[in-house]
Formats: sequence, C-alpha cells, structure tokens
Amino acid sequence: MEYKYKLAKLQYDKEKNEELIKRQRKRAGQVFPKQLEVEFWQQHLEQARHNINQYFWSGVLIYFIITVLMITGDYWIIDRNFFKHDFIHSLLGLVNGAFCLLTLFFFAHYKILRPYYAYAAMAMIFWAIVSMTWLTMTVHTEVFRHQAMMIISMIYIMGFVLTGVKPFHMLLTGLMAAVVAMIMLLTLYIPIDVMVMGRVLVGSTVVGFLISKMLCTRERMIFLVMHQARLSEKINRIHAEELLHLSQHDALTKVSNRRTFDEMLDSYFEQARHDEVPLSLLFIDVDFFKKYNDHYGHQKGDEVISAIAKSIKDSIRHMDFVARYGGEEFVVLLPETDAHGAYAVASNIFKAVERLAIPHSQSLVDSNVTISLGFTVYKGEADIFKSDFLQRADQALYRAKQLGRNQIYYHTLQVEEVL
Ligand code: GH3
Ligand code: MG
Ligand code: MG
Repeated sequence: MEYKYKLAKLQYDKEKNEELIKRQRKRAGQVFPKQLEVEFWQQHLEQARHNINQYFWSGVLIYFIITVLMITGDYWIIDRNFFKHDFIHSLLGLVNGAFCLLTLFFFAHYKILRPYYAYAAMAMIFWAIVSMTWLTMTVHTEVFRHQAMMIISMIYIMGFVLTGVKPFHMLLTGLMAAVVAMIMLLTLYIPIDVMVMGRVLVGSTVVGFLISKMLCTRERMIFLVMHQARLSEKINRIHAEELLHLSQHDALTKVSNRRTFDEMLDSYFEQARHDEVPLSLLFIDVDFFKKYNDHYGHQKGDEVISAIAKSIKDSIRHMDFVARYGGEEFVVLLPETDAHGAYAVASNIFKAVERLAIPHSQSLVDSNVTISLGFTVYKGEADIFKSDFLQRADQALYRAKQLGRNQIYYHTLQVEEVL
C-alpha cells in the first residue's frame, strides 16, 4: 500500500512540474513554489562550489599567468617617478586577489566551512571591491588608474557569475560595496571623477546582476527538466519493482508463487550440492479442503489458505523459503537443515495450524482444519537430481495422506535410510 501512496505522490509532483515547465516557457525566470525554489538555489550554490573545486588548479595556473603578465606589463607602464609606490600597490593588488580567491576556495572546499560559503562569498566580493578600489585608485600613474576601473568591473562580474550567490543578494552586496568605496575615496581625498567612478561601480553591479539573472533564467528551465526526468525515473522504478513483485508473488497469500519456487529450488539445490550441506523440502496440503469449500464457501476457503500461509511464514526462519505451490498446497525450502531440523520446523507449522483452530465440520479426521506434511532431505549427493528430490517430497506428502492425513511423514532420498 505504501508504494501506491508514493506513486500517487510522485505522479502528482510530476503533473505539478509539467505545469511549471509550461509556465516557465510562457514567462521565463518565474519564481518556483517555495520548496522547489529553495532546492533550486541550493543546487545552484552546490554547482558553483563544485565548479570552484573542480577548476581550482586551472584557476591557479591562470592567476599565475595573469600575475606574470601584470608584473611585466606594470613594469613598463608605471611612471618612473612613482615606481616604488605604484609597483608596491600593484603587487599588493595581486596578493589581495589571490587571498580573496583562496578564501573563496577554502569555503567551497572544506566541509566544516561549506555552510558559510554564501556569506563568505559575499564578504569576499565586498572586501575585494573596497580594497581593490583603494589599492588601484591611490596609484599616481595615470594609465594605471584607468586600468583600475577595468579590474573593479571584472571583480563585480566574477562575483555574480562565479560565486553562485543569488543575483539579488549579490546586487545588494555590490551596491553596498559601491557606496562604501565611494565614501572611502571621498573621505580620503583621493582625486577621482565622482561621475565616472560612480558609473563604474554602480554600472558594473547592474550589468553583473542582469547577466546572472539571464543565466539563472536558463538554469531554471534546465532544473525543471532534470527534476522531471528524476521524477519519471522514480515512477518507472516503482512500476518495475511492482511488476517484478507481482510476477514473483501470489496475490492471495502474498507468499512467493510456484514460478519463483522453481527458480529458488534451482539455486538452493545447486548451493547444497556445491557446499555438501543438507537441504530439506516440505510439501504441505490442507486436508479435505474440497469439502471445506463446498460447505463453507469459496470465500471462507480463501481466508483459510491465507491464514495457513501466514502460519507457515511465522514458523520458519528468515533464510527459509515458502511458496504457494498451487491450490491449498505449499512448499517450504529449508537450507542447511537436516531431517531432525526439518521435522522440528514441520511440527511447528503443524502446531501453528492447530492453534488457528478453524472449525471444519466436514473433515473426517478432526473438528478443525488440519494439514498433512511430507518432507525429504537432500545432502548434496552428486548422483541425485533435483527432480528426484521434488518427487520424493511429493511422495512423502502422498504417504501422509494415505496414512490417514493430519500428520507429518518423512521420506528418505536414499531408499535404505531410516530416521
Ligand atoms: P486431501 O485431504 O486429499 O488433500 O483432500 P482435498 O479435498 O483437500 O483435496 P485436494 O487437495 O485435491 O483439493 C484441493 C481443493 O482445494 C480443490 C479446490 O476446491 C480447493 N482450492 C484450490 N485452490 C483454491 C483457492 O484458491 N481457493 C479456495 N477457496 N479453494 C481452493
Ligand atoms: Mg488437500
Ligand atoms: Mg491439494
């Protein structure tokens, strides 16, 4: 029953998701329902963290190349009059950049820091913008200061695209950094063109925000399609499991059916032959069941079959195997069990059915429903076939019936053996 509930829930989720896909097609970038929205951003952040981890060494290499190019380039560009001052700023800028990227990597990489990754990313971008603004705007070489604008824009774009933080959160971070950077430049009397600087800071934030918004819109669609695929896969798996279960079990008693028994017998028999350990096989049949059906009705008969199946199941070990062989007949396989063990199990089943105390007024042997049991034991002998084993157990049941029913009969596989 639980699988039915699960299936219904999954199908409901799938329909809802289809609806969302349609809506997303009509108007891209629409926000999802709460739970899904949370999942989406979690996955988005997770992906960003994963990318940072995966491309760490490529990042290190690129940063190294940039460093070499910057240092040699700066050497040529820097005004000789301010060489020492500006060159130190250039170096500090590179070290600061490396520090920011490394911090971001640590928060993405180490498990203990991961929960704080988004906050760390925002703090790093804030710090990078403010510190780089100061470092690059306080140089004296004119062209160098122009280059600073480009660096600040790049930090913004990286913040939006690389970190995986929600665009709106990054927008707030960027705007706050812009305000702080402007206040810092003005209070420190650093000569800047307020309009140009303002446009660089705020403009980069807005452009970065729009780019990441566009990327997220595309990601939303991919997320929904993948979610749909996952739901379909889960539904298909449940269907397949259910089909397999139906093909292996008996609908009335819920124990395995004869087809499964045939398969199990093959493998249990092979195992016993290989390991040379005993394997017991029990045949169980309800006595005078035709009479029971005729008197109490088929419906009541079904109930008896189910009750007996349950009694058998409750009397055997986990590794033992029970199947409905047909009609009101059951078979039980007992691996690693010799004749004494099998007899004990047979008695337990016998007593369990006795305890059910189902009235059977038409029985010629008792006032309640009774069973007959026949069993045999295979000891791994190489010269005995599976068909002999099966036949002997069936013969044992037949003997139990012949001898008056309501009893257990043991038939040896080798004729000369006696219990
Ligand atoms: P015996 O003591 O010799 O076993 O007598 P019996 O009447 O039980 O004989 P047998 O085992 O041949 O009878 C099987 C009967 O079981 C026939 C049929 O009426 C009944 N039966 C078989 N399958 C079902 C079932 O699924 N439901 C019900 N209610 N009865 C069944
Ligand atoms: Mg019978
Ligand atoms: Mg029968």
